[in-house]
Formats: sequence, structure tokens, C-alpha cells
Amino acid sequence: MNQTKSEQLSKRVYEELVSMPGGGNIKECIQCGTCSGSCPVAHAMDYFPRRIIAMLRAGKIEEVLKSDTIWLCASCYSCTVRCPAGVKYTDFMYHLKRTGEKEGLIPKNKKGLKMAKNFNKVISEWGRSYEPELMVRYNIPNIFNLIKVMPFGLKLFLKGRMPFFPSKIKGAKHIKKALAAAAKEASK
Ligand code: SF4
Ligand code: SF4
Repeated sequence: MNQTKSEQLSKRVYEELVSMPGGGNIKECIQCGTCSGSCPVAHAMDYFPRRIIAMLRAGKIEEVLKSDTIWLCASCYSCTVRCPAGVKYTDFMYHLKRTGEKEGLIPKNKKGLKMAKNFNKVISEWGRSYEPELMVRYNIPNIFNLIKVMPFGLKLFLKGRMPFFPSKIKGAKHIKKALAAAAKEASK
């Protein structure tokens, strides 16, 4: 992508973020770092949340969309509820993921995208997370990776932190329908 296209995309995405409910608060970010300090998965991110906001304001959309950060966000909302400026960080992450997919600008390793897609499939099926299936789906076809994570899975199972069998919630079919409708809407 040449410079002009990149600049146009940066401008467009920034305007889209600002026009989201409460999105304009991005202009009030004081770079205090509370979001980064509150994030439980910041250690695994290539750019901390504080930096992502600075990059968005500086027009560095390509770097943002190609970063692992937006795909690693676990949507816990800690950053959003603690931000003194009311920046809707978590909501921004959803929009950036959708934009990245549409524009074909995603991290090279595609790990986050793969995890998100498989998580979606599991939720569609059971209405809630079922970690053993997610673990298998995410690691296949790399059987060695699957073998590597098995001891960890076993530990979780023995400590009662991971179920052996899945349990479907009541009305799982409605969740499946809602997710399919959301995917259709997002692809427009
Ligand atoms: S917590 Fe809010 S104000 Fe502070 S750096 Fe993060 S987004 Fe900016
Ligand atoms: S919502 Fe995402 S970015 Fe914010 S604290 Fe949670 S995991 Fe981190």
C-alpha cells in the first residue's frame, strides 16, 4: 500500500472510531498508561494499549492492524472502565479487528485471527467456551504444538479448571443464529 492509501485509511478508521458511541474520548487520552497497567494480557502484546492509542492518533493504522495486540485483547474491559479519559478501548479493538480483516491487514503469524475464528466456532456450537475443543482446533494441523500444550491442559483438568466433557447452554441455537447474523453484517 502506498503512502497516500495508508494515510487515507488512517484518516477513515480514526473518524470511524471517533464516531462510535463515546469514541470521541480518544482525543482526551492523556497517555497515562492506566490501560496498559490494567491489561491482563499486555505482557504478550507487541504494543501496549497506551501505545496503540498514540499510534491511532498519529495515523499509524497499518502498524496497528498488523499488530498482535488487537487480536490478543481478551475483551475484559479493565482498560475501558479504568481509563480516566473514558476512552472506549475495548470497543475500538472490535472495530479494528473487523477493519483489519476487510483490508487484508492482519499480523503475519495470523495466530490471533486463528484463535478468534476457532473461539467463535466453539461458542457457536456450545454457547460457551469449551477449552479442550478450542485447544485441538487451534493447534491442528500442527500435532507437535498440540502435544506441547497437553500437559498444561491436563493440569487445568486435574485442578478442576477445565471440563472434560462439553455442556451446551439452553438456547445455544439462538447464539449460533446471532453469530451468523453478525458475521453476515460484518462482511457487508
Ligand atoms: S488509560 Fe485512557 S487516558 Fe490513559 S493512556 Fe490509556 S487510553 Fe489514554
Ligand atoms: S479489554 Fe483487552 S486491552 Fe483492555 S485490559 Fe482487557 S484484554 Fe487488555
